[in-house]
Amino acid sequence: MKALRFHGHRDVRLEEVEEPRPSAGWSIVAVDWASICASDVKEYLGPLYIRPHRPNPITGVSVPVTLGHEFSGRIVQTDGSRPDLRVGDRVTVDGCISCGVCWYCRHGNYVLCDRLAILGFDAHGGFAERVAVPTSSLHRLPDAISDEVGALIEPLSVVVHAVRRGRVAAGDVVAIVGAGMIGLGALQVARTAGAAAVYVVERLPERRERARRLGATAVIDPELGPPGEQLLELTAGYGADVAFDCAGTQDSLDTALDLARKGGRVTIVGVFKTAPVVDMNKVVLQEREIVGCLAYVDDFPRAISLVADGRVDAGALITDRIALRDIVEQGLQRLIDEPDRHVRIIVDAHQV
Ligand SMILES: [Zn+2]
Ligand SMILES: [Zn+2]
Repeated sequence: MKALRFHGHRDVRLEEVEEPRPSAGWSIVAVDWASICASDVKEYLGPLYIRPHRPNPITGVSVPVTLGHEFSGRIVQTDGSRPDLRVGDRVTVDGCISCGVCWYCRHGNYVLCDRLAILGFDAHGGFAERVAVPTSSLHRLPDAISDEVGALIEPLSVVVHAVRRGRVAAGDVVAIVGAGMIGLGALQVARTAGAAAVYVVERLPERRERARRLGATAVIDPELGPPGEQLLELTAGYGADVAFDCAGTQDSLDTALDLARKGGRVTIVGVFKTAPVVDMNKVVLQEREIVGCLAYVDDFPRAISLVADGRVDAGALITDRIALRDIVEQGLQRLIDEPDRHVRIIVDAHQV
């Protein structure tokens, strides 16, 4: 079968690989659609998560590894450890592979597992015709969610986790830095959590327009002046109860700190390439809180229900569909070259 293998930075190859082998506790999924994440692009340009010379302690997988952690598909083989699942079921997959025995796993916080492996980085992922995944990680897709949208449940679970970590409450004013997948998802999920107003800060005009279409109360162009000051004007001098940094840069972090009101909360969803400097006096003297978010912990059922009942429009976040055979030129490269034109490019795994 065909799979997109990461060999090294700027060296990914669509190549013929062995079929995944079934084993106890694991199932085989035939991939329908897979979505290209900003993390895939960051890893491609590298380095991000992959440690090239060390096999992962849980999965034993080392480079070359198949990328792809956001996908939908059908179960083609299962070990039978989940009586609620059958061959042929449409599913998506929780990308965290945890040890199950460390302190964090035993306390139900598997994303912090001491030996966490991430599908598509530390285990062969979903940019392939078929993939082996832990049976416990499977989530069935209801009929109301299409195969295409099913590929976006994983990033939406990241968003749901972030909104829960940010403790967005009824009537809150929310501000979001960055109108990519996570920012536009947070805009919608914060509304479902009861946010009264959601402001989005974004430099790229097409992305600002998309945020407006998806229901932003107002969009803020940082070129027109410091975003914090613009938000104060829009909110009668108070700012946001909760600000989200969905970009993970020094600039986006500084902006998020300025958007949060005194006593407000800054929720960080972006992963930083280099360690940022934090103006701790904005935390100490004005009692702001900073909360970090990584991936998700049991947030898939919540994301699935929000999409299934139409409260979150995930289809609006799909900006192009391509064949698996074109994933490098038409996918990764275009996300690098034209970042304002895309949210998620999804990949048809049947077109190899
Ligand atoms: Zn992702
Ligand atoms: Zn663990």
